[in-house]
Amino acid sequence: MFRSARLKLTLWYFLTISFVLLLFSALIYQAGSMLLFENLSRLYLRLQALELNVSSPTRLPRNLRDPQVELADIDKTEFVEELNLAKQKLLFSLILIDFGILSISTFLAYILAGKTLSPIERALVAQKRFTTDAAHELRTPLTAIKTSLEVNLKDNNLSRVAAIKILKENLKDIECLRKLSNDLLLLSQVEKANQQVRQETIALDELLADLINKFQAISKNKNIKIVGQAEHELIKADYLKLNQLLSILIDNAIKYTPKSGKIDLNFFTEKNKTFFQVKDNGIGISKQNLPLIFDRFYQVEAARTKNSNPSFGLGLSIAKEIAKQLNANLKVESRLNKGSTFTLCLC
Ligand code: ADP
Repeated sequence: MFRSARLKLTLWYFLTISFVLLLFSALIYQAGSMLLFENLSRLYLRLQALELNVSSPTRLPRNLRDPQVELADIDKTEFVEELNLAKQKLLFSLILIDFGILSISTFLAYILAGKTLSPIERALVAQKRFTTDAAHELRTPLTAIKTSLEVNLKDNNLSRVAAIKILKENLKDIECLRKLSNDLLLLSQVEKANQQVRQETIALDELLADLINKFQAISKNKNIKIVGQAEHELIKADYLKLNQLLSILIDNAIKYTPKSGKIDLNFFTEKNKTFFQVKDNGIGISKQNLPLIFDRFYQVEAARTKNSNPSFGLGLSIAKEIAKQLNANLKVESRLNKGSTFTLCLC
């Protein structure tokens, strides 16, 4: 599809260049022919004057400027032959130059068309992959619900206890679907162009307190200790987006830290930059997986199997998009089985 679009675009570039080139060549030929006619006539008149031993005219007779006018004073046949020869040479040179320009510009147009179309191609490929991945993630819980319902509907001896167990399993799958649709919606929202980014005054210690409060219940559930450190410093940023981004990082830290683990939150400013660190002593990420964790739907296999919560590998891609909007830098350092530190820097 992109090859034919590239060829079509090249053809359009080629036609445009050819049209401009043809126009200019016609003008150059016209002007060149006039000049040739004038110069040749002047030369012939001078030669004749020399032959007749009379002084040559310094200016052309007016009627000489008109190519249709009879040239009474000069040898007409020889003059016309010379003029035609010179015009032919001019035409040949122009054709040669045009051919050269057209060949080079067609080649350049082909490269340019490729460059013009490549961001669109990349975006389309990414969108296609995204749709396939989303469909794949949707299919798993949907198939589980459908199979379970079909099998159990046929079972005439299904007890009430068994039915409740099945319904609870189905509910889990539905929760999975709900989480996926929420993540997809959030991703599409944060990806919207021209998003408004507020500049609100935020106190670092208050933001920290809000976040600790938000995650208190789930961290207690896993017996994970959250330790926070922040001074009462005021910064300007979009509170909701910042909170959203840090929530993703803290949520991951809890998810990927085994029971009785520890999470350190450290918010501080240094040299006009604000740093937000989320450090855990959880399962960590291997070196080869580190560059991939920000990709959509990417999940490290160990995390996928160990984690009981529904997750789809969208959290960090959402976090990265929000960081981009906040003009912030999101970095990660991690060691397998030792823990990870995510650092967001507001520059
Ligand atoms: P998910 O919803 O699966 O957590 P994310 O995009 O948030 O998706 O994370 C992508 C992958 O990065 C996860 O599957 C996990 O393997 C890894 N990851 C993210 N945060 C951490 C962390 N704090 N510790 C260990 N691994 C992490």
